[in-house]
Amino acid sequence: MVTTGKEKGKSGRILKVLPEKEKVIVEKINLIKRHMRPHGQQRRGGIVEKEAPFHISNVMLLCEKCNKPVRIRHRAMGGRKKARVCYKCGESFDK
Ligand SMILES: [Zn+2]
Repeated sequence: MVTTGKEKGKSGRILKVLPEKEKVIVEKINLIKRHMRPHGQQRRGGIVEKEAPFHISNVMLLCEKCNKPVRIRHRAMGGRKKARVCYKCGESFDK
């Protein structure tokens, strides 16, 4: 769920996480229109809608159990692995 900006309050499925940029791409959220230039004869010019990445601090995970956006915390799972869990109920987001 998006917590700030013009898309505030909307929620969607996370399509992609870009850990090195600390950004996420959420389905149907933050769509930007890209003007595509005609490229040779194979592709015609036009407008393509595409999801733009969000900074990770602008979104919250929606907990299925709590049915609302929650803060996450990290819990060590058997040493090397870390799981993201709901701050409130402890539900794991990494399944
Ligand atoms: Zn929860």
